[in-house]
Amino acid sequence: MNCLLCHQPLRDDPGLSGLLDARPLRLAQLCRRCFARFDQIDQQTVCPGCGRADSPSLCQDCRRWKAQGEQLLNHRAWFRYTAPMKDFIQQYKGLGDYHLHGAFADVLQVVGENQALVPIPSERGHYARRGFDPVLGLFGHLPLALWLTKADTPVPQAQKTRAERLLTRQSFTAHLPAKVPPRIVLLDDLYTTGRTLYHAKAALRAAGFEGEVISRSLIR
Ligand SMILES: [Zn+2]
Ligand SMILES: [Zn+2]
Repeated sequence: MNCLLCHQPLRDDPGLSGLLDARPLRLAQLCRRCFARFDQIDQQTVCPGCGRADSPSLCQDCRRWKAQGEQLLNHRAWFRYTAPMKDFIQQYKGLGDYHLHGAFADVLQVVGENQALVPIPSERGHYARRGFDPVLGLFGHLPLALWLTKADTPVPQAQKTRAERLLTRQSFTAHLPAKVPPRIVLLDDLYTTGRTLYHAKAALRAAGFEGEVISRSLIR
């Protein structure tokens, strides 16, 4: 098999074969050199509310969400939005290069019991243009609960300023099955202001879900 980014053959790393406990649940899709270009977030020093790197106490944004009466999402992300990650997202989402969807599958593991993993869906218009749902692609190796739908909005989040993003109106609807576990983990590709995820949580509440809602994203 070849690295999804540089297309060089992937070799078994002899350094990892001895560490049985550290063996990932899925095989890496990127070679070590390509993978090393992405900046993994040190989870020991993140904001407890949103997973922002190097913010060991609650950041300004999270204080604002809290002041608005939100219960924080205890969000965590795996990677920083550095230039190599921006390039990756541009190729995957922007250019619609679907074969990159599993690039981080070995890293994107969400373990835990009594929880449902609910991805943030694409708008139908975007789905139709791109031909795939980028978040479903990234997390497609996990058992996903497709309980949210998103109405088409006039301007995509990516084309908005920060202030405009925060003013975005609710466009999610949740359809829950009869039996829902006590915790829902929302999954997204990128956490910017948190607006999208808090809307998704509000949709779950509106559909009657009273349990815990937390969230994860590839990038913060
Ligand atoms: Zn590579
Ligand atoms: Zn925060």
